[in-house]
Amino acid sequence: MYIVQIASECAPVIKAGGLGDVVYGLSRELENRGHCVELILPMYDCMRYDQIWGLHEAYRGLNVPWYGGVISCNVYCGWVHGRLCFFIQPYSGDNFFNRGYYYGGKDDNMRFAFFSKAALEFLLVSNKRPHVIHCHDWQTGLIPVMLYEIYQHNGLGGQRVCYTIHNFKHQGIAGADILWATGLNREGYYFHYDRLRDNFNPFALNCMKGGIVYSNYVNTVSPHHAWEARYQDVGYGLGHTLEIHQSKFGGILNGVDYSIWGPESDRNIPYQYSLDDMSGKALNQKALRERLLLQDVDKPIIAYIGRLDQQKGVHLVHHAMYYALNRGAQFVLLGSATESSINDWFWHEKNHLNNNPDVHLEIGFNGELAHLIYAGADMMVVPSNYEPCGLTQLISLKYGTVPIVRGVGGLVSTVFDRDYDQNHAEEKRNGYVFYETDNHALESSMERAIGLYKKFPKEFEQLRQQGMEYDYSWTNSGGNYENIYEFIKAF
Ligand code: ADP
Repeated sequence: MYIVQIASECAPVIKAGGLGDVVYGLSRELENRGHCVELILPMYDCMRYDQIWGLHEAYRGLNVPWYGGVISCNVYCGWVHGRLCFFIQPYSGDNFFNRGYYYGGKDDNMRFAFFSKAALEFLLVSNKRPHVIHCHDWQTGLIPVMLYEIYQHNGLGGQRVCYTIHNFKHQGIAGADILWATGLNREGYYFHYDRLRDNFNPFALNCMKGGIVYSNYVNTVSPHHAWEARYQDVGYGLGHTLEIHQSKFGGILNGVDYSIWGPESDRNIPYQYSLDDMSGKALNQKALRERLLLQDVDKPIIAYIGRLDQQKGVHLVHHAMYYALNRGAQFVLLGSATESSINDWFWHEKNHLNNNPDVHLEIGFNGELAHLIYAGADMMVVPSNYEPCGLTQLISLKYGTVPIVRGVGGLVSTVFDRDYDQNHAEEKRNGYVFYETDNHALESSMERAIGLYKKFPKEFEQLRQQGMEYDYSWTNSGGNYENIYEFIKAF
């Protein structure tokens, strides 16, 4: 099958979060299964150019219709760790992708509406006719809309769309101007509730809703989150739309690319290790302590890696830090905040705890340090308010770092409480789970984890290893996507 992935991220060249990992990992798995996969991405000025091999101009003078005129683009092509990627670079005063950031502009709707339009135009004029176009998140929600309403009449008639929602929170709420910019025009038509009208604001359009309505198949990234999105508030107002389109909606768990995230072969950590020989884990822990200037003592290291925002349960992350210190553990945090109040809060904590030899806060994004933390920590806290899938707990399991998670979304589907899980035999349990959002719930599971580490080290070691035995690679999930592609291709 010929598959084109269109997304705003692909790790490691463009990575703001899990989306980048998923786009890369899934593409790699599909290629391993014998499919032809290409990716279309924006050409940001701040992406990791050192991660692209053989970057060259592939198409000059791509004229993308925009507001009754055109914006001219060049398309560059290169390999990102073996994946063939096309990068779209527009030349216009709007400066869509030359701003030193991926997201966060006031005109993000326009930036990604333009990217969506340019991606389709590129497929059209370069005669690429994939069987399946796979779009991701709100940034590409307008692709199925424009494909159905415009491009199928121009020559892209046989393409089917799979649309994956990685996070319902950001939906691309826009005004009528995106219709005029992209050439969809007809305001009355698109402002209909059955099409793009936002479910809450009748004067706004919703790009993600467009993606749901117009795609041939829609999924989110874990079966449990698919259920939550329909029946709880984590669908952020799209529950009813999902209900209407339930026959084409499901949940597929993300996988982890073990060629990047595998302690046996990870080149970002000084000592490789595996289930057969765990000695490297302790050496990595020592290396982590040296790097972060933590004292070298017999205390468990509890870590947090992730964005610092409300979704991730920042208040519980903060509490976990102090609780760990009070209970004789060390704490390492690697996270970045886009909200200035949260950023200031954690910088304040960092300064406050500067002289404490048992804690280190690294505020910012550091892909390479993340590997060492996964390898060197003993436990990983993931106290999310909601979590569509979550990669941190999956990666932690592979590195023998015991996850302590809140039982929501993909966390519920992948972490099974050592003491209380009812559905898995003892030798299949792999971490600690709590459900409520208060400090006590977090404390009770941290207490159990720290207690096991200190009083029953053999049992803790056993729990680590049980986690490492889990296979959350792309092998299963890749097969599920393959089945969906086959299914939508057939009609
Ligand atoms: P998200 O909601 O951000 O997509 P996921 O758990 O799905 O969360 O994926 C997060 C990914 O980003 C993981 O690979 C994690 O290791 C990585 N990550 C998150 N924050 C940072 C950071 N500050 N530095 C390095 N890697 C990070």
